[in-house]
Amino acid sequence: MGCFSFMCKECGEAILSNSFRGENVKLYLLKDGKIVQSMEGEYDSYGKVFTKDLKNSLEWDTDRGVICDLMFLDIMNLKIIMANSD
Ligand SMILES: [Zn+2]
Repeated sequence: MGCFSFMCKECGEAILSNSFRGENVKLYLLKDGKIVQSMEGEYDSYGKVFTKDLKNSLEWDTDRGVICDLMFLDIMNLKIIMANSD
């Protein structure tokens, strides 16, 4: 599974993650420009954040396949944006 790189919505810098630890970020899933879900934590490099214990990742309520497609396609008016949280 490939990693997904994001730019910080606020400063434009790349958000770093090595798939074990990542920068503290806030992620927002938007539909039609409105926030439908958000998560905050260390970026896991797969379009999600790690749980507090860093053993797992939080999951989006949206289907995993759809989330993956979002990284490459504009679909269903969905979009993920990300910004540093510290
Ligand atoms: Zn930033």
